[in-house]
Amino acid sequence: MNCMRIDILTLFPEMVSGLCHSVVGRGIEAGALDIRAVNIRDYTADKHGRCDDYTFGGGDGMLMAPQPICDCIEAVDPNHDARRIYMSPCGRLLDQRKARELAALDRLVILCGHYEGADRRAIDLCIDEEISIGDYILTGGELPALALADCVARLVPGVLGNAGSLSCESFEGNLLEYPQYTRPQNFRGIEVPETLLSGNHARIAEWRHERRVELTRKNRPDLYRKYLRGKKKETETLKN
Ligand code: SAM
Repeated sequence: MNCMRIDILTLFPEMVSGLCHSVVGRGIEAGALDIRAVNIRDYTADKHGRCDDYTFGGGDGMLMAPQPICDCIEAVDPNHDARRIYMSPCGRLLDQRKARELAALDRLVILCGHYEGADRRAIDLCIDEEISIGDYILTGGELPALALADCVARLVPGVLGNAGSLSCESFEGNLLEYPQYTRPQNFRGIEVPETLLSGNHARIAEWRHERRVELTRKNRPDLYRKYLRGKKKETETLKN
């Protein structure tokens, strides 16, 4: 079994240590994942341990300096074997397709920005791609790095107990997931839909598909349009 290594580079390593529990923790125990938090501050050449400075051209906030970032990345990944990612609101939006692409790699280095972000030269010199987790600004890249590492990690072979469960999750086929129920059959007067108790697998599959389409149309019109485009293409391919 392959082991995926993920190094998360941060000024606040304690913020990323919470990832190694539950499914990801079991993936680490099984030898499918190796996740490390690396303190960028250990690589600063500043005698006072500083890693940030004022921005040229003015501006209120502080910026992460290039030297500790570049030295840290080059120490962790000296031969540039890893895909090096900078978590940034200016990056391409993370989606399940990107997570799948990254899960097929052997190594990731994820750089967390803080304050006003990182000096552009560090990104241009040492980073392969910038990824955003959404159109909002967080105080640091630690939560985005955890989100990225988590969604990639669960796609690495050997991490999820039942990999089959991935095939009908939200975003597969541009649809959201169908609603799910467990025991009890009646909770506060609400019954589990009768079809799910029927034992008729074809009817259940049809019911689930209909719910996926309905939910996607209601909650995610953008995704629903993609789904319709995909269906149209499928029909055209079948005709030709
Ligand atoms: N001045 C930056 C801007 O306007 O784009 C925002 C800096 S933010 C306060 C500090 C750091 O948090 C960023 O360098 C980045 O690493 C991280 N960050 C914040 N929001 C993010 C998001 N939506 N996706 C990915 N990283 C984010």
